[in-house]
Amino acid sequence: LVYSDSSPLRRLLHADATLDENGQPIRKKKVVVLGSGWSGYSFLNYLNNPNYDVQIVSPRNFFLFTPLLPSVTNGTVEARSIVEPIRGLMRKKGFEYTEAECVKIDASNKKIHCRSKDGSSLKGTAEFDMDYDILVIAVGAKPNTFNTPGVEEHAYFLKEAEDALNIRHSVIDCFERASLPNLTEEERKKILHFVVVGGGPTGVEFSAELHDFLVDDVAKIYPKVQEFTRITLLEAGDHILNMFDKRITAFAEEKFQRDGIDLKTGSMVVGVTADEISTKERETGKVVSEPYGMVVWSTGIGSRPVIRDFMQQIGQGQRRVLATDEWLRVEGCDSVYALGDTATINQRRVMEDIAAIFSKADKGNTGTLNKKDFNGVVKDICQRYPQVELYLKKNKLKNIAQLLKSANGEDTQVNIEKFKQALSEVDSQMKNLPATAQVASQQGKYLAKCFNRMEKCEKKPEGPLRFRGEGRHRFQPFRYKHFGSFAPLGGEQTPEGPLRFRGEGRHRFQPFRYKHFGSFAPLGGEQTAAELPGDWVSIGHSSQWLWYSVYASKLVSWRTRMLVISDWTRRFVFGRDSSS
Ligand code: FAD
Ligand code: MG
Ligand code: MG
Ligand code: MG
Ligand code: MG
Repeated sequence: LVYSDSSPLRRLLHADATLDENGQPIRKKKVVVLGSGWSGYSFLNYLNNPNYDVQIVSPRNFFLFTPLLPSVTNGTVEARSIVEPIRGLMRKKGFEYTEAECVKIDASNKKIHCRSKDGSSLKGTAEFDMDYDILVIAVGAKPNTFNTPGVEEHAYFLKEAEDALNIRHSVIDCFERASLPNLTEEERKKILHFVVVGGGPTGVEFSAELHDFLVDDVAKIYPKVQEFTRITLLEAGDHILNMFDKRITAFAEEKFQRDGIDLKTGSMVVGVTADEISTKERETGKVVSEPYGMVVWSTGIGSRPVIRDFMQQIGQGQRRVLATDEWLRVEGCDSVYALGDTATINQRRVMEDIAAIFSKADKGNTGTLNKKDFNGVVKDICQRYPQVELYLKKNKLKNIAQLLKSANGEDTQVNIEKFKQALSEVDSQMKNLPATAQVASQQGKYLAKCFNRMEKCEKKPEGPLRFRGEGRHRFQPFRYKHFGSFAPLGGEQTPEGPLRFRGEGRHRFQPFRYKHFGSFAPLGGEQTAAELPGDWVSIGHSSQWLWYSVYASKLVSWRTRMLVISDWTRRFVFGRDSSS
């Protein structure tokens, strides 16, 4: 039987869930979610717990499918096709939505301060406060200018739907201006000089899209000025796409060269004025300025002001990014969760916990570990500390036993010093998760699943279901750990140590673990580079189709899927729309 959360049938069947044992209505906990992007939308989509009163605050009443945003800049895909209105989900789930921006989080009073978008015209209703019991921060990040002068004023960003439309208008506008009579050749060259700053996936993809547009469409529409166009891609580091496999970087750099995209690595932008962009060459230290028609800035992301202010309040002011533990709880603050680009997970180090790990493994308290002790904990260590597995993989070792052997020779007895020594390098493999939609949506789903089980844990204090349980005891003994007024999402913050070993029953929730499904870098000309798990690299036309189908299948609704596919079809048949 399928029925939605808000259906009368469900309410009837679960009527008692809203009353306490005296028949009094239970005050539902109020969960306030900030943001309707990848992480927020995914959280809301998977959240299925009628015991929460859910309120969403976001200045944007839609979800935006960012991977296709670069395609909006040249009209391959329409902006309308990659947004999903949030109201539909709200109705289905029975959640409340408020179109406003959170401008301040007051964690000590469990309140947020909000401002509605057109506050200036609606005096009195423009600003309001909202209480919460649980706050989920999913506000994403803002483009990072590194305080480079002139960037805010003169460059275009590519982050939101309107950014893509602005870029699109501006590109067309450049061509129209360059086509005016009585301009000198120099002037036309300047207007048609497109500069992209940042050689990450977004900058590269945008350059590729722009190049496709010039080759496929501009040649036909603006034949007179086509020869004056130029694309420059500026990257401060040595290579573009440096988070990808070297083969992909090399392929992309070669392809750009062939395409005539002027790729300048090792050049850092130091300033932008209305007509010129200045870069400093790393090798020579020389500053050169060049005239341009349009600059698109895509050099990474930084924290939003509201998050910076919040970090100050909770003692994270020294950090660059808001930190959470592995259960996505904001460190230093009760009942607040953060996910997606807003935050990074503070992974535990093996070296911090080494004594606890050792004593846990050392069953007989002998001061040395033998093979049996060791086999008992290996799995748990790898699960609890993902860096161990990465380290083993990097050094082509099969398991920790091999690692110990390589550090310890043939000796099968290991004392703590040797144990420490063997594992001393594994923490070098700790990496922050990338700021991607893939991570954000997995975190949203993970957190929703934790929230969905919360009610069961609160109602059945005997503890959570144990699926591997033995015969007569289906439930673990319950040891409640109080973190404020809210059931904890697992995670130990006690001196007993951070280790969660299976079967100990203290932790009802596993920490968040990211599963990488691969990365794609569209390079233009219907070619895409794909890096898939297991060191699988594929470049070319086939991966372009893989990319299309992966993203078409990931689009959130059949409506958007239909729209995007029809946009692609229209583009194949009629070319891109070039009106601005
Ligand atoms: P967002 O999705 O940015 O959502 C933030 C939400 O918070 C928005 O709804 C916003 O309106 C709202 N908000 C902002 N401020 C406030 C406030 N003060 N109060 C309340 N709400 C607020 N990732 C991939 O994995 N694959 C790709 O191919 C890919 N391509 C990309 C292409 C482009 C052009 C861009 C810009 C990004 C791309 N990404 C891609 C990255 C991906 O979009 C981000 O990692 C992802 O959006 C992060 O999700 P989020 O929920 O943290 O933030
Ligand atoms: Mg979000
Ligand atoms: Mg988004
Ligand atoms: Mg984003
Ligand atoms: Mg993050």
